[in-house]
Amino acid sequence: MKKCINCGKENRNENQFCSTCGGTSFEAPYSTDEPAAVPPPLQTPPPAYQTPPVMMGPPPTVKKPFTLFDVLTILGFVSSLVGLVQIWVVLEPLALASSVLGFFKGNRSKGLAAAGTVIAVIAFIIRLFMTLYNNNIIGRWAIEGAFK
Ligand SMILES: [Zn+2]
Repeated sequence: MKKCINCGKENRNENQFCSTCGGTSFEAPYSTDEPAAVPPPLQTPPPAYQTPPVMMGPPPTVKKPFTLFDVLTILGFVSSLVGLVQIWVVLEPLALASSVLGFFKGNRSKGLAAAGTVIAVIAFIIRLFMTLYNNNIIGRWAIEGAFK
């Protein structure tokens, strides 16, 4: 609709002349329709920074590094075994030293180090008694079994 400036009568938009006074001047046409509701702008929240999901649960098992002392432990253990039948006077002290070092300094072979230490010590004790007996320093009773 548009309003005639002359008389104020409302006329159809397509009218060239005012239907009441025949005037040709009109105010700017306007729509009688309700202004279309403008949809509110979509509120898209800024994407929150997503931290990557934290892996829960036990942390991956970190294996302790295999150190030189662990190698020493293995060598000591082998020496303690070989020393039971061969050149014990060299191998058993070597085994004892290596095993003790490996036990306190090594990371991954404490059980082996303990075993090497025990074997070396037992070998020492047996050898000591055998030597004492062979040199007639102690009697046969010292090397006999407990129930014999
Ligand atoms: Zn008019």
